[in-house]
Amino acid sequence: MPNSYIATLEFALNEDRIDILFPFRERFHFPQHNNAAVIYLCGNSLGLQPKSVSFLMEKELSDWANYGVEGHFKATLPWFSYHHLFSERLAKIVGANKDEVVAMNALTVNLHLLMLSFYRPTPNRYKIIMEAGAFPSDQYAIETQVRLHGFNPEDAIIEINPKKGNFLIDDADFIDAINAAGNSLALVMIGGVNYYTGQFFNLDKITKTTHNVGAIAGYDLAHAVGNVPLELHNWDVDFACWCSYKYLNSGPGGVGGIFVHQKHGNNPNVPRLAGWWGNDETSRFKMTKGFIPQPGAAGWQMSNAPVFNMVAHNAALDIFDKTNMSSLREKSIKLTGYLEFLLKSITNLNFTIITPVETERRGCQLSLLFDDNGKKVFETLTNNGVIADWREPNVIRIAPTPLYNTFEDCYRFYEILRNIIL
Ligand SMILES: *Cc1c(COP(=O)(O)O)cnc(C)c1O
Repeated sequence: MPNSYIATLEFALNEDRIDILFPFRERFHFPQHNNAAVIYLCGNSLGLQPKSVSFLMEKELSDWANYGVEGHFKATLPWFSYHHLFSERLAKIVGANKDEVVAMNALTVNLHLLMLSFYRPTPNRYKIIMEAGAFPSDQYAIETQVRLHGFNPEDAIIEINPKKGNFLIDDADFIDAINAAGNSLALVMIGGVNYYTGQFFNLDKITKTTHNVGAIAGYDLAHAVGNVPLELHNWDVDFACWCSYKYLNSGPGGVGGIFVHQKHGNNPNVPRLAGWWGNDETSRFKMTKGFIPQPGAAGWQMSNAPVFNMVAHNAALDIFDKTNMSSLREKSIKLTGYLEFLLKSITNLNFTIITPVETERRGCQLSLLFDDNGKKVFETLTNNGVIADWREPNVIRIAPTPLYNTFEDCYRFYEILRNIIL
């Protein structure tokens, strides 16, 4: 395929014509710039709003108005069991059994809750391996968990860096570090797809090596979920969490999701912080003493479902459910490949694509590292109706998402970029 790409609008339009996912674009609202849709390449930061959200939100508001508290059981989608709406669809997206996932809280909160269950350090086994340059919230979460248990982050956290002069971390460097840490290693906690470089780590291999040294493997899938193929159950991942507002298009501050492998989820003795929503549903309203966790990931819930937040999640997952991750991935590889092909022919600007070139080591995002002038290029793009994303110190991230971006988007972006004169 890559050899047959052509840098013309005609080629791009033709690719869109034969793209079976093209009609999905119509299901989303696009921000406007000079009375036309922007070129939105920022689904890795905040996905676009499904058009169906506003109708469903109105419906939920009217159920609240009409039923008051009785909406817990009488609403069209009863609030008592609202979170059940998501497990099956989320399970398909992350490659899990239905009982292994639940939608709850927000990402960093869930990361903490899961680490409280699965980071159980002892005086000898207390180290955590993570990637250097992780998303700051993850850095703070891991650092403060380590302190909470009375350890020193400098000693307990092993950060894996790219080799000197590289931007990417070799999967082999994780493997070597895990083996070197051996019995001192309690947890491997990395972002499945790095937010800055777009690198997709080999979670299958990392998980196996982690288990070989007797440690736990947990992943932050913020940039992976809905973007790359995941098989959390088969890879034997212990736990994972994600947010829903990036590739899952569920709105700012959207409800997060967790995965707990059934080997842990079905063990009521795994320690956790409990709340009433994680309790056995048949006795939830008996208001008695003694927490009885629901089996599976659902047993990690604490508070009742944030229904208004979940309305958008429901609308967004409905769209995912009309296709599947393998069709999305197939288009994504082609679409990002096209963007990469176009970018490589640019001569008026100085930048390096730091995202891996191998498709199995990346999702849809490409990260452009500028020597200088990056910020100026970014501002010019913005002024020309492109929504991309700037990450300090010098990277422009662009993410053509297969659900609503087109080959035409990539071509028009390229046209604007190659005409920039600094
Ligand atoms: C987006 C993102 C977050 C954001 O965390 P919230 O708790 O949802 O605010 C955290 N970690 C990673 C890796 C992210 O990409």
